[in-house]
Amino acid sequence: MKRREDAPVATPDICGVEVANLTEDEAISFIDRLVGEAGPHYAAVVNAAKIVVANKDMALKRALLEADLVTADGMSIVWASRLLGQPLKQRVTGIDLFEQLVGRAAERDWSVYFLGAREESVRGVAEKLVKSHPTLRVAGWRNGYFDESESESESVAEAIAASRADLLFVAMGSPVQELWISSNLERTGVRFAMGVGGSFDHVSGFARRAPRWMQRAGLEWLYRLMREPRRLWRRYLIGNSAFIWLVARQRLGRV
Ligand code: UDP
Repeated sequence: MKRREDAPVATPDICGVEVANLTEDEAISFIDRLVGEAGPHYAAVVNAAKIVVANKDMALKRALLEADLVTADGMSIVWASRLLGQPLKQRVTGIDLFEQLVGRAAERDWSVYFLGAREESVRGVAEKLVKSHPTLRVAGWRNGYFDESESESESVAEAIAASRADLLFVAMGSPVQELWISSNLERTGVRFAMGVGGSFDHVSGFARRAPRWMQRAGLEWLYRLMREPRRLWRRYLIGNSAFIWLVARQRLGRV
């Protein structure tokens, strides 16, 4: 995470990634300020799997270190912060920030652009959010299935710039969304962008979020694993063990 003189927060180092020690309300106020400043700015969220990948993939690590704000999407990050003696106040998930920011955008008259997920899902997000926030200005949307070549990304970024959106939400999964934002942010002309993972599918109703009790118990990953075991087993089972190893190594190095 970028160091700012006026940073309102301590930034615990979780296995080489700096995570802001903010409550959800504080994170929203911080983003509100970023939107008002000369930008562009971007935020990201991390879970255990993303931290493990960032320890191998320098491009992802750089994208996280250069973000203006990184928060803990997964409960395991909060537990790790406690074990490492730099406790985070709470978990601040991508989907909660997304929903709060859309509400803030409707109040502040910031226009929004949705990039990512399948066509039906992203269209559903735009339609649903306009219904729930009648003053929301949707500058545009686009599905997240395009060729990852530079020229295609450039034309997607130019379409976003032409829409004159203030905020950009990118839901293309990790690390694609973080890398896409860090390479294309300037060209999009937005004030603020953020990677929001599977949020569009949750908001549009294409995927269901884990029950509250599982979210609170830090078991959201288990719920997702049970629903999509083939796609996710490697990410969670191998990723979670690798994360425990990274945390243990950091902890032992400090004792
Ligand atoms: N997705 C996309 N383009 C792709 C691959 C995936 O837009 O090339 C979308 C996918 O449709 C889903 C979203 O990325 O809506 C997030 O997927 P995932 O649940 O893996 O997110 P994560 O767990 O990484 O936050």
